[in-house]
Amino acid sequence: MKRFEMMIDGATVATEQTLKVINPATAEPFAECALGTPAHVDQAVRAAKAAFADWRESSDEDRRDMINRIADALEAHMPEFMELVTLETGKPQGGYKGVGAGMEVGGAVAWTRVTAQFDLPVEVIQDNEEARIEVHRKPLGVVGSITPWNWPLLISVWHVIPALRTGNTVVIKPSEYTPVSVLRFVELANEILPKGVLNVVTGAGDVGQAIAQHPDVAKIVFTGSSRTGKRIMENAAGTLKRLTLELGGNDAGIVLADVKPKEIAPALFSACFHNSGQTCAALKRLYVHESIYDDICNELAAIAKTVKVGHGLEQDVELGPLQNARQLDIVKELAEDARRSGGRFLTGGREMDRPGYFYEPTIVADLTNGSRLVDEEPFGPIVPVIKYQDEDEAIRLANDSPNGLGGSIWSSDRAKASELAKRLECGTVWINEHGAVQPDAPFGGIKNSGIGVEFGRYGLEEYTSIQTVKIPK
Ligand code: ADP
Repeated sequence: MKRFEMMIDGATVATEQTLKVINPATAEPFAECALGTPAHVDQAVRAAKAAFADWRESSDEDRRDMINRIADALEAHMPEFMELVTLETGKPQGGYKGVGAGMEVGGAVAWTRVTAQFDLPVEVIQDNEEARIEVHRKPLGVVGSITPWNWPLLISVWHVIPALRTGNTVVIKPSEYTPVSVLRFVELANEILPKGVLNVVTGAGDVGQAIAQHPDVAKIVFTGSSRTGKRIMENAAGTLKRLTLELGGNDAGIVLADVKPKEIAPALFSACFHNSGQTCAALKRLYVHESIYDDICNELAAIAKTVKVGHGLEQDVELGPLQNARQLDIVKELAEDARRSGGRFLTGGREMDRPGYFYEPTIVADLTNGSRLVDEEPFGPIVPVIKYQDEDEAIRLANDSPNGLGGSIWSSDRAKASELAKRLECGTVWINEHGAVQPDAPFGGIKNSGIGVEFGRYGLEEYTSIQTVKIPK
């Protein structure tokens, strides 16, 4: 079985204990990796703190050059990373509408390159006969990154690269379910970066908590559940850490009466089911106008019945398994509750009879707000389709949620859709698509979906503190 090591201060660190990494398509281990402890966090933070002294002084050109070389290294190892991502997450190589391991690794390369190009120049806000006032952006120090299991490599790049670009050093902790692509990424990056600039410690919540509490960590960037985000905020309060929290979403999509159901069904299906629904900004509650309700339900069900579900390394597979048994249990529990509350199952509704954590793509009609499948994030291949009568009602139902990550309006009238979009309570709204992110547009949630944004100049600024400099004339 292939073994993956942790890296601290530019060197691999052998650990007594190891972690078996499960392939969710077989429920069998396929790799083994070092298992870190809170003591390793201490060691890694010490290394990152020491490395910060020189790294913060390095020039923009040098940092940009190294980050571009990291992008080159990721790209040169793309087939290897795609295989690792499929083995640890279960997502297909290609995937429905091209959302799969290829997109994850390609995205990691693209984000790295684009982020390398950004600058945060000194801003002059006054320059007159009295004084010149400059606003400088300075790195924070050691950034702790805690990442989830749904897009392990891509989300690690989202955390690590802007932190490095702005002159911070990093200790990253990948999810205990999916550590291998991150361990390999850190190993490759360490062939390029000075030692101690990027360190990785594996482990579960106790290791994450040690990072959140560590007095020498200046900021936490976290992607994961709202529940864990709140724990991190509590643990980080003692040292007043800066936080970027990208948490759960239960995104609503509203389909207006003027769409052509057959035309939009594949995009709607992809928005709901890509990565088997295991994406924070996947479409998870679909509100459809009563005049086209049956048509949309039938079109989606027709796709769900023909989509190819299987082991992600097999050719043409479009959807893979759930990533872990616990997530499968959540999906099963919400499906059972939907059945009891009168949900009409148009497709699916069962665990698949094969090894691994597979659940049939499932579409449930006739539920309303107040049933668990509508109110809670299932994070799996199951979507409730809810009927509405008028647009005010649809907006009210969509906003009736403690979450506020993304939302979407589907209509052939773009002007009308953009007006309605502004009434949705969420960080990003898409028209006629859902969940598409890009490296130069800010992305983040409101309400229980998080604090702060990632990507672009706005995302970069979150890895810095402001220093105002006043120079008298
Ligand atoms: P899930 O329960 O589906 O794995 P989480 O949000 O709990 O989702 O996990 C996301 C990341 O947070 C993982 O890397 C996990 O190990 C880490 N984590 C879990 N509990 C804590 C905690 N108390 N403090 C810091 N990190 C944690």
